[in-house]
Amino acid sequence: MTHTVSLSPSWLDDFPARMAELDRAHLRRKRREVEPQRDADGALVSGVRLCVDGRPMLAFCSNDYLGLAQHPALVQAACAGARAYGVGSTGSPLVSGHSTANAALEQALAAFVGLPRALYFYAGFATNIGIVPALVGPGDAIFSDALNHACLIDGARLSKAQIHRYDHAHLAGLEEALARSTAARKLVMTDAVFSMDGDVADIPALLDLCERFDALLLLDDAHGFGVLGPQGRGTLAQAGLRGAQASRRVLYMATLGKAAGVAGAFVAGDDTLVEWLLQKTRSYTFATAAPAMLATALSASLQLIEHEEWRRSHLQALIARLRTGLAAGLQGSHWRLSESQTAIQPLLIGSNAEALAVMQALQERGLWVPAIRPPTVPEGTARLRIALSAAHTEADVDALVQALSALATAV
Ligand SMILES: *Cc1c(COP(=O)(O)O)cnc(C)c1O
Repeated sequence: MTHTVSLSPSWLDDFPARMAELDRAHLRRKRREVEPQRDADGALVSGVRLCVDGRPMLAFCSNDYLGLAQHPALVQAACAGARAYGVGSTGSPLVSGHSTANAALEQALAAFVGLPRALYFYAGFATNIGIVPALVGPGDAIFSDALNHACLIDGARLSKAQIHRYDHAHLAGLEEALARSTAARKLVMTDAVFSMDGDVADIPALLDLCERFDALLLLDDAHGFGVLGPQGRGTLAQAGLRGAQASRRVLYMATLGKAAGVAGAFVAGDDTLVEWLLQKTRSYTFATAAPAMLATALSASLQLIEHEEWRRSHLQALIARLRTGLAAGLQGSHWRLSESQTAIQPLLIGSNAEALAVMQALQERGLWVPAIRPPTVPEGTARLRIALSAAHTEADVDALVQALSALATAV
């Protein structure tokens, strides 16, 4: 007997109209094909000089804040890791996937951030959507900054705990919500450096509230790890918090695909708590472990993060240069540079269409700065997200300042 299949579910016919809606709202996203530029000898030039859809571009959109993603020492460590372990991890960490390289990396990461134990994940998104439901569930309460990253929000939803969303950085609102809550377990969660705004959470004040209301603080330091704090040890270290005292109150999470220049993430904190996460995080248990070659690259990266202070001081100098340059160049324009002191320097434009037009005008000048639009940011706050890297030169920053100043006076 032959079985006939009708052409498609009827609701598939809706997609062209739904797609056209995205186009009308200037919300249709498009990927670009990216390749690093090479010098005459075929060596990689720098992480911010790219070929984008075949055209040479200077990029201001990379999260590679320290310029490590193409560092020869990391490439070499990844190759050595592949020769020693092969390229695949072969299984989940609780079966065959937890290599000696991954174990060594976990020890190095814990020591680096000054917390008792770390757990290494293949991705940051998977970390947060997994650890939040492992920590809290129905009957518990989550207190979440309104500008938190999507994966914290999704983790909260998956947990089925009650979610209290407080206005961005509004700690009086958080305090009120904590005071009202009768939940047995309270989890406060926040980006440490906000990914679309570049501002830093007030960690001492958050910890203070967590202590008063018996809550655990989950810090997502995706954009602070490697960049902020002494030797790049992150936002927690910058706040002067390390060791046992911090670990009883904080669960620290950071990603390894940004400043660390590779891929993956880790969570660090109290020994028992991390052991619990190892047992109960579904996105950890039921997923293939990160390959050892990435762990060996990350161990090399950690050395450079710790010892090459010039990367952070150069980055700080570039941030200051950009801010001074734009303060002068954008006078009289309605564009506004956010109050950020980190490598993320958002330029608020307003409408989706204008942000896109500025992005395109910069592209024509060989400068790649992405426009960030809703729903990633609130309606009416479309922006250019300028990301600086230690791989930029002062001349690179000057080129961007000049182009933006010229465009601002043209509109
Ligand atoms: C990038 C990012 C993540 C996700 O990490 P990946 O390793 O890219 O999956 C999580 N949280 C924040 C704040 C981020 O910026």
